Amino acid sequence: MFNALVLEQEEGKTLAAIKQLDLSDLPDEDVLVEVSYSSLNYKDGLAVTGTGKIVHSFPMVPGIDLAGIVKESRDPAFQPGDQVIMTGWSVGERYWGGYSQYARLKPEWLVKMPQGMDAAKAMTIGTAGLTAMLCVMALEDGGITPDSGTVVVTGAAGGVGSVAVAILSKLGYTVAAVTGRESTHDYLRGLGATELLSRAEMAEKARPLEKQRWAGAIDTVGDAILARVLAEMDYRGTVAACGLAGGYKLPTTVMPFILRNVRLQGVDSVMCPIDIRTEAWNRLLSDLPAKALGEISNVVGLSELPQAAADIVAGKIQGRTLVDPNK
Ligand code: NDP
Repeated sequence: MFNALVLEQEEGKTLAAIKQLDLSDLPDEDVLVEVSYSSLNYKDGLAVTGTGKIVHSFPMVPGIDLAGIVKESRDPAFQPGDQVIMTGWSVGERYWGGYSQYARLKPEWLVKMPQGMDAAKAMTIGTAGLTAMLCVMALEDGGITPDSGTVVVTGAAGGVGSVAVAILSKLGYTVAAVTGRESTHDYLRGLGATELLSRAEMAEKARPLEKQRWAGAIDTVGDAILARVLAEMDYRGTVAACGLAGGYKLPTTVMPFILRNVRLQGVDSVMCPIDIRTEAWNRLLSDLPAKALGEISNVVGLSELPQAAADIVAGKIQGRTLVDPNK
């Protein structure tokens, strides 16, 4: 028997409870993994609190990412003892996920742990960190280098934002951070941000084109802030947009695109092809300073998850939250 956080629905309300499960309760997938760590992402917050329509069927073990050790495998690509990372693929939404001591997963979802990485580090990075790395790679694809000018990161004190600030700063970019919480300024400066901007100022309605300020942007919030970022982009600037913490709308015009040659690149980590994921995980080893990881992370057990989930939805969490199902 082992412990898992299980979501059930009663009269339209989502209820989260720790249950004792047997291995035979797990879905019939080819690889059995003993979970060392999972993590808390914004999407997990929505799933556990029942705030968004994230979960497709109940009962559900949430947790959109995990790292652990293979215990059994019907696929020759994996052997017992292999260390693996899983992020995305609708796990924790359609398929049972990482808030559990054990998970059964499809082999094609798994990335072998890069040499030099371990489960705690991988899940401190987690889906949010992988997404941040993919955003940095999208800026590079757009030709943005540290010499191009300042890169602005929105939702900077959140999971994706914090890792993005740390990676950009390690790579030598000048980083401006947009945050709604003044209390996070020292933290963001510690990660390498040199300019701090208030969320309120950046959410002010922008004209179709504003003064050019940013060579690149990583946007985790959407809506009016993304619209302003677009209007403030330099000629041939690139924006990597991955999130909607501030809303899913985008009240903008075509002006930044047709007059300033701005590129808006969407970033998705969920269905990201395995070769790009593997490249991103390897880049995270070299481009995300270990010191930043220490500053970024908090650890919670399964029993603390309902509260932590409510906190992330309320925007009260700083950095990344590691989930230890064995705590
Ligand atoms: P977090 O909750 O950790 O961070 C989001 C941050 O956004 C908050 O910390 C806060 O930063 C800011 N924020 C919160 N509410 C608002 C608001 N109303 N208006 C403006 N800013 C706000 O979440 P994650 O970092 O895990 O995820 C960020 C976003 O990226 C989410 O929308 C998530 O769904 C998305 N995402 C997308 C992925 C993909 O594959 N495309 C993968 C992972 C995440 P501050 O306090 O600094 O203002």
